Amino acid sequence: MSMTAINPATGETLHEYTLHDSDTVQNILQSAEKTAAHWRQQSIAQRAELLRSVAKQLKTQKAQLARLITQEMGKLIGESEGEIDKCAWVCEYYADQAEDFLSDQPLDSDASRSLVAWQPLGTVLAVMPWNFPFWQVFRCAAPALMAGNTVLLKHASNVPGCALQIEQVFRDAGCPSGLFSTLMISARDVADVIAAPQVHAVSLTGSEAAGRSVAASAGQQLKKCVLELGGSDPFVVLDDADLDAAVKGALTSRFLNSGQSCIAAKRFIVIDAVADEFVQRFNTAIASLKPGDPLDSNTGFAPMAREDLRAELHKQLSASIDQGATRITGGEPLEGKGWFYAPTLLDHVKPGMPAFDEETFGPLAAVVRANDEEQALQLANQTRYGLGGSVWTGNDQRGEAFARRMQCGCAFVNGMVKSDPRLPFGGIKDSGYGRELSLLGIHEFVNAKTLWIK
Ligand code: NAP
Repeated sequence: MSMTAINPATGETLHEYTLHDSDTVQNILQSAEKTAAHWRQQSIAQRAELLRSVAKQLKTQKAQLARLITQEMGKLIGESEGEIDKCAWVCEYYADQAEDFLSDQPLDSDASRSLVAWQPLGTVLAVMPWNFPFWQVFRCAAPALMAGNTVLLKHASNVPGCALQIEQVFRDAGCPSGLFSTLMISARDVADVIAAPQVHAVSLTGSEAAGRSVAASAGQQLKKCVLELGGSDPFVVLDDADLDAAVKGALTSRFLNSGQSCIAAKRFIVIDAVADEFVQRFNTAIASLKPGDPLDSNTGFAPMAREDLRAELHKQLSASIDQGATRITGGEPLEGKGWFYAPTLLDHVKPGMPAFDEETFGPLAAVVRANDEEQALQLANQTRYGLGGSVWTGNDQRGEAFARRMQCGCAFVNGMVKSDPRLPFGGIKDSGYGRELSLLGIHEFVNAKTLWIK
């Protein structure tokens, strides 16, 4: 059994990787357990030192790691470099903050002393997606390791080179064997790993379907689970918005990573009074996106990561047009090598169409027109997802009031939704549960142990 890495910009095979057999998986599980017993005894300062060393390796190897990301999943080389920088940042952030985040929390009670101590759970399984193949892994692993756990990675099968290279980065940083290990297994083997006695918790970032399956396994085994799933984030433009800023934000938010981000703006809900103007300016901005070789730093638009994902996006687009949406630009796979899809703008999208109801994971911006602010809010919340959302307005108070009423895990006013080590990240509804990053992220995979001392 093997996994194949294919270059999305050319369709050419990069490398074939052999999957781990069951003996190898057992050895890796046992090594993670053994190291966990030792790692939890290390002081926070010792753990922080190792995470700083990981950050240093990421910075030193940035060019080579970024190239690997671009070759395996197609994003622009500049975005890949930014991703590696962000991974170093999250390691340093938790190294700096851990003393504070993990210090005992004194409590008043009938004891002479009572407190909460934050203790590691053991080994955390991270099941991760390909769209930010380094960042998704590090934002889960850095806090889990800093809290004293060991980490096992099951990465997406289209980025096997990244999966192995991340393990190598930890090795190069001097981490003990078993601290961070990659399992080269298929999705169907995940349930067995969750059931293994050496594994104490699981974090899944991925699709709704994978979330349901992993949550079911974790539930069956009574193991802690965090789910970071899909989204259909609204990007609401009110009638007093600065349209230049809104269009700039819209372009980046929707077309970064060729639209393949969970928190990409997907539904552009625009008040009628400014909708024509917004659509016209957005269309002009989209025309500036020029596809090309993602390894060339002058290229402005990347291919999609897999052929099947491109076909799925096209199906969603065609069905939306059949149901009455208007195609302003794009709307087709680009001819030639690789899995490029034309940057696409749809207008007059409505509930009931796939571009409104489903997650569109590619370069497709759907404009939804609203009569007024109340209808815009109702449309923004009319989704089974609840990851992020943004609102654009000339009035901060109006923006904050609107953001507070949005049903999502993070709402931004006059800025595109983004992840940041300092801010909690996660969703509600079918976008999952639990939080990554910040204080909340490091408290997901710990035993909040109460100590009561008479
Ligand atoms: P995916 O197909 O769900 O895969 C994610 C990971 O789960 C992969 O490692 C995959 O392995 C594994 N997997 C798939 N089905 C599984 C199952 N039934 N049981 C156990 N593991 C399973 O998602 P993707 O295409 O890689 O990523 C795109 C999705 O991730 C989008 O929906 C996006 O919104 C979401 N995402 C969410 C966030 C967030 O923070 N909320 C961030 C990034 C992406 P294989 O590759 O071997 O199938």
